Amino acid sequence: MHQLARLDRRYLWHPFTQMRDWLRREPIVIVSGMGALVRDVNGREYLDANSSIWTNLHGHHQPKINAAIQRQLNKIAHSSALGLANEPASLLAEKLLAAANQICDSKSQSARKSKIVNRKLSKVFFSDDGSTALEVALKLAYEFARRTRVKSAGRVAARIAPPRFLSLEGAYHGDTVGAVALGHIELFHRSYSGLLFKSDKVMSPYCYRCPFNRAKPERADAREYRKCDWECIEKVEQKFSARKKRGNPYAAFVFEPLIQGAAGMIPQPKGWLKRVTETARSRGALLIADEVMTGFGRTGSSESCLPAAGLPGKPPEGGTPNILFGSHHEGVQPDFLCLAKGMTGGYLPMAATLTTQRVFDAFLGEYDEFKTFFHGHSYTANQLGAAASLASLEILQSAESVQARACLQNTLHDQLQHLWSLPNVGDIRQVGLMAGIELVKDWRTREPFDLRERAGIRVCEGMAQRGVLTRPVGNVIVLMPPYCTTPAQLRKMVAVVRESVQETFED
Ligand code: PMP
Repeated sequence: MHQLARLDRRYLWHPFTQMRDWLRREPIVIVSGMGALVRDVNGREYLDANSSIWTNLHGHHQPKINAAIQRQLNKIAHSSALGLANEPASLLAEKLLAAANQICDSKSQSARKSKIVNRKLSKVFFSDDGSTALEVALKLAYEFARRTRVKSAGRVAARIAPPRFLSLEGAYHGDTVGAVALGHIELFHRSYSGLLFKSDKVMSPYCYRCPFNRAKPERADAREYRKCDWECIEKVEQKFSARKKRGNPYAAFVFEPLIQGAAGMIPQPKGWLKRVTETARSRGALLIADEVMTGFGRTGSSESCLPAAGLPGKPPEGGTPNILFGSHHEGVQPDFLCLAKGMTGGYLPMAATLTTQRVFDAFLGEYDEFKTFFHGHSYTANQLGAAASLASLEILQSAESVQARACLQNTLHDQLQHLWSLPNVGDIRQVGLMAGIELVKDWRTREPFDLRERAGIRVCEGMAQRGVLTRPVGNVIVLMPPYCTTPAQLRKMVAVVRESVQETFED
């Protein structure tokens, strides 16, 4: 065993990993990367089919991001944001807001219809990762709701019921205690219930396993053949009505737009997001969009987010809109836009929570009024991370990147069709540049594997042996290639899923 593998086994404790399983085998030790490939200590190459847990955008060893970090490193790596401003963070805040407000300036019909004009985001609070981006939104929304209610009720703060949050079934918003309280994954969150504040959950539109979907299984994405009356939207409306009747309306609705990741790559049928966010707004709730996974182009470039029209591998006619955030596909502008993972192009831990002037103003006051947002981290607004993020944004906004992403999205769609012939593939769910492949015992019955059977883990182990790395979410295989992945590399990723599924389940 390689010396580095030995050190790892002796001293490290890995995240979301049963360490007894880990200690049974020699770990893959990554030492370098180039584009969509990573190389291990023995010189073996692997395709990074989940973009290093959904973080990498433009590939490893990306020359422009490398150069930006190098330039920044020659000036300074870090200085505190507690009491000091810095160059790349100021520039980045301006650029992030411009990208996030593109939709407000857009002349698109969906934007106009949803009246998002004037809902501009105008402030950026930096932090370190997805969990902290959510934690910031949560605390700001909580305190904003409390202050607004105290003011309008004219009562002392102590009499106001604690503001309450609504999120989706299966939601995952991070691992810090506040973010866990917003989450609803039994397996992860059960043990910590004693630590958490109470939040509510509402049905998420999981068409493939929806109790209201009367359609028999077909060899297509369940969103396309579902038969229902949008009962999932009714459920959201009922939740808001019930809360309002109790005299404590929801302070905020927290959601991943278009697709929930860690819940099992669960995509929303077109129109769902727009309608539920309209309901939330009409009941006075703020919108917290968790775009930790979906942000920065992951949800693709076509308006519908279903595969763009046009020839396989070719961008659609008439140019491709550069929509960077999932919410914008449905004309939704949230009050809090939480960003992390891909923000630095997958280079460094950095995150941001974008919010409105209205929220910001609620924290303004004289020093001795103590309205300050008492929250922050040592590495807030880190210069190296900000420099990497600026370079990544510039790449994302280039015509080449827009076109490459549109092509990759189409190639992914075409390649995924080859998996429908496998009896153990129940559903294939693509949103832009991500896909979830749900494994089942038999597609005709949708019978799930028990988690103890480790179906997803076994398939991914087989894929690693064939040179393709990804991690499952339960029984769902995730494909989320870096944007620089070539058609040949993508073909290999999907072919390897196929081979590994066949090998794992053949009698
Ligand atoms: N929100 C979403 C939607 C996520 O997918 C994740 C991470 N998988 C998080 C929040 C937490 O991000 P982090 O792991 O960077 O704290």
